[in-house]
Amino acid sequence: MKVIDIIKGEKPSLSFEVFPPKLSANFESVMQATAKIAELKPSFMSVTYGAGGGTSKYTADIASKLLNMGVTPIAHLSCISSKRDEIELLLSDLKERGIENILALRGDISDGMDRTNLEYHYASELASEIRDFGGFCIGGACYPETHPESRNSKEDIDSLKIKVENGCEFLTTQMFFDNNILYNFMYRLYREGVDVPVVAGIMPVTNAAQIKRICSISQNVLPQRFLRLVDRYGENPEAMKQAGIAYATEQIIDLYANGVNAVHVYSMNKPDVAAAIQNNISEILR
Ligand code: FAD
Repeated sequence: MKVIDIIKGEKPSLSFEVFPPKLSANFESVMQATAKIAELKPSFMSVTYGAGGGTSKYTADIASKLLNMGVTPIAHLSCISSKRDEIELLLSDLKERGIENILALRGDISDGMDRTNLEYHYASELASEIRDFGGFCIGGACYPETHPESRNSKEDIDSLKIKVENGCEFLTTQMFFDNNILYNFMYRLYREGVDVPVVAGIMPVTNAAQIKRICSISQNVLPQRFLRLVDRYGENPEAMKQAGIAYATEQIIDLYANGVNAVHVYSMNKPDVAAAIQNNISEILR
């Protein structure tokens, strides 16, 4: 099934993300976690693509297994370190496996990456190539707090416009911890005529390592309410997990109540976190 048909439906959608292992030895444990999340029968599931493309086969393998489990998968695909013929092979492989949805990404530019002779510079180039290949529903990434490389939000939204013109039918957001940031962003999209559905990406922050990572690398505004939870419960793993799930749940309920009908949870291969969130909103999803 095409993801655009799921998120355009009247019912609120709740979807989850998994990421593939870096090493083959961990494939089975990732698959077990994926299967447990799939048992929750989410609206769809996304499978990320390893930076640099090293684990691309696992992305397709996990997405195929999701299909067999009756869950619609989105395979992420990033292009910055790929050649055009490699992308064509990957697209053929995804098509043969019956995968119908791709999140078209550029990928991060790592320190020291050789940027001469790149065949792709932006996700929009990949989107148009996938569109020309045919048969896929294409999504793209968007950034309510602007992408760190964009000079301002106008430039950021101009790039999103190109992505949409080149074939992206929906946009999935980077995580955010203050819903007003998303509402303002959606207003700016609307004003600039970007009218594809937006899937809100929510990250339940459930442990101290995640918090440190978010604080050190992201541009996210961290509201006082969120920081107080971290101060109070950050050193107590079980309490932090409960508080992080509650915070994410509140965000999700507020999003649905304000008409954002598609929510994607960055569930980080954690079936218990995915199940707790789904359970918290079971009546809302009905
Ligand atoms: P782009 O859309 O190409 O944008 C990158 C920058 O270039 C932005 O500043 C944009 O404004 C600018 N830009 C775009 N087009 C133009 C243009 N035509 N002219 C001038 N400037 C332009 N990474 C992975 O490696 N694997 C994943 O699975 C993965 N999944 C993700 C899922 C989501 C929902 C999100 C939000 C991010 C994900 N990422 C993933 C991270 C992503 O690869 C990085 O954020 C990367 O830095 C940008 O990717 P993009 O597709 O948004 O790039």
